[in-house]
Amino acid sequence: METCVFCKIIQGEIPSSKVYEDDNILAFLDINPVNHGHVLVIPKEHHPKLEETPDNVVADIFVQSKKLMQGIKQALKADYVSVSVVGTEVPHLHIHLIPRWFDDGLAGFWPTRKYKETKEMKEMADKIKNAL
Ligand SMILES: [Zn+2]
Repeated sequence: METCVFCKIIQGEIPSSKVYEDDNILAFLDINPVNHGHVLVIPKEHHPKLEETPDNVVADIFVQSKKLMQGIKQALKADYVSVSVVGTEVPHLHIHLIPRWFDDGLAGFWPTRKYKETKEMKEMADKIKNAL
C-alpha cells in the first residue's frame, strides 16, 4: 500500500519512535498521545480492518500487545494500560495501548448512552447473537 502512512513507517520512509519490532509486528509511540507513552501496535502486513484480518495476524498482534502492556505499565509506573482498536483514520489495523493513572483526569474515552430499559438491552444482545 503505497499511500498508507503506517506502511511508510514500516518501510522506514517516515521516522517513528519504535518501542518494539519483529518480523511481523511494529510498535511505536503515537505522535498524538492521549497520555505520554501511548503506543500503537501494527502488523507489518497491511490489513485495513480487524474483522477482516487473518486469525494468525490477530493472535500475533494481541499477544505482543499483552507483552507491551506489561512493559508500559512497569516502565511508566502506570496503574493500568487501556487497549483500544478505534476509528478508521489510518486504514491499517492498529491497537492503541494507553498508559493510565487513576488520577490522570481522563474520565472516560467516550460518552455513554444508557439503554432505556432491560428489554431494549436484551433485544440488542439477541440481535448481535443472531448475526454470529
Ligand atoms: Zn498499511
